[in-house]
Amino acid sequence: MKVIIVGGGLSGICLAHQLEKNNISFRIIDQGINHSSKVAAGMINPMTFRRMIKTWRGDDLIPCLQKFYSEIENKINARFFFQRKLRRAFASQHERDLWMERLEDDAYNNYINSPEKDAPEFLNAPFGNGFINTPGYIDAKAFMESNHQYFQEKQLLEYAQFDFDKLDISAKTYNGEQYTHLIFCEGFKGEDNPYFGYLPFKNAKGEVLNIESETFNKSEILNKKCFILPTEYGDFKLGSTYAWNTKDPSPTEKAKTDILENYKLLSSAKIKVTGHEAGIRPAVADRRPLIGEHPTQKGLYIFNGLGAKGYMIAPYFAIAFIENLLNGKELDKEVDIQRFYKKYFLPKNSI
Ligand SMILES: Cc1cc2nc3c(=O)[nH]c(=O)nc-3n(C[C@H](O)[C@H](O)[C@H](O)COP(=O)(O)OP(=O)(O)OC[C@H]3O[C@@H](n4cnc5c(N)ncnc54)[C@H](O)[C@@H]3O)c2cc1C
Repeated sequence: MKVIIVGGGLSGICLAHQLEKNNISFRIIDQGINHSSKVAAGMINPMTFRRMIKTWRGDDLIPCLQKFYSEIENKINARFFFQRKLRRAFASQHERDLWMERLEDDAYNNYINSPEKDAPEFLNAPFGNGFINTPGYIDAKAFMESNHQYFQEKQLLEYAQFDFDKLDISAKTYNGEQYTHLIFCEGFKGEDNPYFGYLPFKNAKGEVLNIESETFNKSEILNKKCFILPTEYGDFKLGSTYAWNTKDPSPTEKAKTDILENYKLLSSAKIKVTGHEAGIRPAVADRRPLIGEHPTQKGLYIFNGLGAKGYMIAPYFAIAFIENLLNGKELDKEVDIQRFYKKYFLPKNSI
């Protein structure tokens, strides 16, 4: 087995580690510009607050990611996985009521705690607040830089743009190099891929601010309408936004204004904006990852569509995908691109 991974973002890196663990020969080609994995806040949030339910597959994803990231930290001798508490200020009485309902539900024992008696002075929480148990967050920049360094030193990462003209699918070669599996992990650029662009990408641009503050607690993530995440460098990330139908990855004044408006709902503490970044989340119409082999071009695969919670999702499905390639273990139907064959692939190609 000889694998070429196109894309060295979170997806490509997680697959690479899983291949290495299984002693499979691989290399990564990355064009050296990253617009999502490096910008991400990297939060591991087991709840979807809007409906106050557990995040999709959270019970499987969380134990898996804890082991996965800790193992990588040890393997490559780096630190990027940090503990934090997550404090939610309830957005309404209805949300507080839902929180109380979940408290009575055994399925939420691992995640939800009784509401706090008090709120910190700086927090705008007229309906109260409470803590969610989370393993913390991944420092995205530290993750990307340390992993790139690791694979570069092993000469398994090449910085280059993948050139489709050099791909010979029938001979299974790229630029003359034989492969058995070519896995596309191109993030939002996947929608321009000539073989997988038919899939229903619904990419979502997101922006975050870096802020300084003397007020906030350095061990807690705060959440209500926006989030404030304390970083390892003494500052905080404040975000984020969602915008569709754009491929422009540069920061905008509008998003900055929106974030600061949302911030006012969370706190009135004085902050100083010191940075502003934007990225594009590789998201999908049905909000599930895109994993599997091309319907007709054997040897071509995709691992993409990690959406807004990539740092949660990637480890579990990287393991599942490599299991599928090595041992034929069936992919979860919810993530397998087969779910789109009839609707998006067959009609277009049968004309
Ligand atoms: C503002 C923001 C906040 C976020 N916050 C969180 C969060 O708190 N928690 C969380 O879990 N997730 C978060 N995410 C989501 C997370 O960042 C993504 O799900 C994840 O990073 C996607 O990783 P990826 O590797 O699939 O894509 P990308 O990170 O986009 O990587 C794709 C890589 O492919 C390479 N590439 C593309 N085309 C080619 C080509 N033709 N040739 C060579 N290389 C190519 C690019 O250079 C890039 O490095 C956030 C995202 C954003 C934008």
